[in-house]
Amino acid sequence: MAAIDDLPPLREVIETHGLRAKKTLGQNFLLDLNLTARIARAAGDLASSDILEIGPGPGGLTRGLLAEGARKVLAIEKDARCMPALAEIAERYPGRLQVIEGDALEIDPLAHLTPPIRVAANLPYNVGTELLVRWLTPKEWPPFWQSLTLMFQREVAERIVAQPGSKAYGRLAILAQWRASARIVLDLPPQAFVPAPKVSSAVVHLTALPEPRFPADPAILSRAVAAGFNQRRKMLRASLKGLAPGIEDHLAAAGIAPTERAERVGLEQWCALARSLAQG
Ligand code: SAM
Repeated sequence: MAAIDDLPPLREVIETHGLRAKKTLGQNFLLDLNLTARIARAAGDLASSDILEIGPGPGGLTRGLLAEGARKVLAIEKDARCMPALAEIAERYPGRLQVIEGDALEIDPLAHLTPPIRVAANLPYNVGTELLVRWLTPKEWPPFWQSLTLMFQREVAERIVAQPGSKAYGRLAILAQWRASARIVLDLPPQAFVPAPKVSSAVVHLTALPEPRFPADPAILSRAVAAGFNQRRKMLRASLKGLAPGIEDHLAAAGIAPTERAERVGLEQWCALARSLAQG
């Protein structure tokens, strides 16, 4: 297949800059630039968007995004060792790549981005889920982003798109599907990465809905769902007991049987419960 750019192959970049993968930073790099270009295309309209990329590492996905025509990429990377490699990419695409060295959990990138904004990332799964939950639960909606294109362990990706009644259904499914539409767009075997992780991965694409599917306060919904699924085998009247006095009345107001279990309750009912709890 044709090269996506005239920069050195990623294997060479890693060698030149001594970027031996660090386990502590969850580093599993994608070296196939045709694959990263494919992930970039899954992010949607790049030419008229600013892209926030978290965890660019040696720059595989960054190069994919830029080669596919992203208007601008703002990349936040915690590992200082990656800066020289990323600077070479910035030089190749003048004015289109800005890199911030730091922890994405601590940095507010919005001052550097012009809407519309899309997010693309291949992150260690714990940082990825933490950021995903933050991106899905701002007080105001619509959020700063139009879409999120995120790599996760396959099992986490399944939790994001899961339906009620399934084992994977839980807090992530409810928060993601409440305010966004979510689908798995690509599966990747462990061998796609260096070093190869133990499990398969998948790319999830989420598009922000103009409005949540049902009204609810994000903090209350999030708390209720977390309590319900923390003890998913228990009946809701027991697992939600600590949330508010008279929990059975709130469940009744939401049309949920007190003997029901969290995994059988759909999004609409969870939102109705959050509304009842908000009324006190
Ligand atoms: N995007 C590259 C790729 O696809 O090959 C690298 C992916 S690697 C799985 C995850 C990257 O996220 C690493 O470069 C790691 O240093 C970076 N990272 C880990 N935690 C981070 C954090 N809290 N903030 C920013 N970057 C982080």
